[in-house]
Amino acid sequence: MFTNKSSIPFEKKIISLILLCSTIILHSCGQTSNYNNINNSTNMDTTNSKASNPYYSHEDTSKINISNDEWKKVLPPDVYEVARLKGTERAFSGKLWDFTGKGTYYCAACGNPLFRSDAKFASSCGWPSFFEQMSDNSVVYQRDNTYGMQRTEALCGRCGGHLGHLFDDGPKPTGKRYCMNSVALDFTPYSVNAEAQGNNIDTITLGGGCYWCVEAVYENLMGVLNVESGFSGGKTINPTYEDVCSGSTLHAEVVQITFDNSITSIDEILKVFFTVHDPTQLNRQGADVGTQYRSVIFYRNDEQKSAATSIVKQLNDEKVYKQAIVTQVNKFTTFYRASDEHQHYYQNNKFQGYCRMVIQPKLEKFEKVFKKRLKKF
Ligand code: FE
Repeated sequence: MFTNKSSIPFEKKIISLILLCSTIILHSCGQTSNYNNINNSTNMDTTNSKASNPYYSHEDTSKINISNDEWKKVLPPDVYEVARLKGTERAFSGKLWDFTGKGTYYCAACGNPLFRSDAKFASSCGWPSFFEQMSDNSVVYQRDNTYGMQRTEALCGRCGGHLGHLFDDGPKPTGKRYCMNSVALDFTPYSVNAEAQGNNIDTITLGGGCYWCVEAVYENLMGVLNVESGFSGGKTINPTYEDVCSGSTLHAEVVQITFDNSITSIDEILKVFFTVHDPTQLNRQGADVGTQYRSVIFYRNDEQKSAATSIVKQLNDEKVYKQAIVTQVNKFTTFYRASDEHQHYYQNNKFQGYCRMVIQPKLEKFEKVFKKRLKKF
């Protein structure tokens, strides 16, 4: 095992503390409250209003260009006020500013996917804040010189509805703060998404050596909604990192990836997997040695099993590697999440030795091969 990886370095804890502090410092938002009387019946339950809005869709990506008169007929008054008249709700008055549910945030006017919940952070400005938009076209911008300020207005990429403003005082990794109106957003939990979208949301669990490395890669891939590091495939219940490192639990270090099939696919997820680790090394990845570092795919359904066996066969047939692939394809049983200090490890410890020497080269390879598929920060 790589010795530097056996303990979480002190610098990691310092960096985490700084990040935490940055979220509780009051930001000077710069949002104006020009429509302070907006009734914030914010969109946690918008079933009725969406049903009467023929332009609302999570799947249709075509641009909408209709008059405000038409919008006024189909939108609730508070949504119309913000989306079409560029209103701003009072700080701390919306239902989403401190909301922490896991799911997707859509445009309340048209249903366009805007943000993932894992890009939301606890800004104290009183409006829901995100550090990253969901895709290139989710949010678009224009200069806003109103109220004697020079700001960047953020608008829905599909319907052009006003969402809020974009600032450069956000947290890592982007430094951006999308300061949004709750009223302009419509939140849907992942579980509901999967039902409503015909199971577009899927999850797979992959072991490709050190989970810090694999996690860092997938966090940069478009369509990936959430990545968690943990352990699968062993016998011990609720194993600790130290238990797994001993090799006695038979668990593999894995990442559990939740992804949106309408943006990425199981095939792309697996192509990335076979690009960023060496599937011919038995029970090791470089200096990380032991069964916990084995190459393994834990499938949850027939589609994943078929995709996994197919790509292994194809890579072997085409002799992409000098030696045969040893990757195991096993049915998923249980995932045990690793402790918080192992999550988002690369993002929080970029200058640590293991991150620079082992993770950074893998990330660079991924970014080169999948250049057009990277999330935009
Ligand atoms: Fe929209």
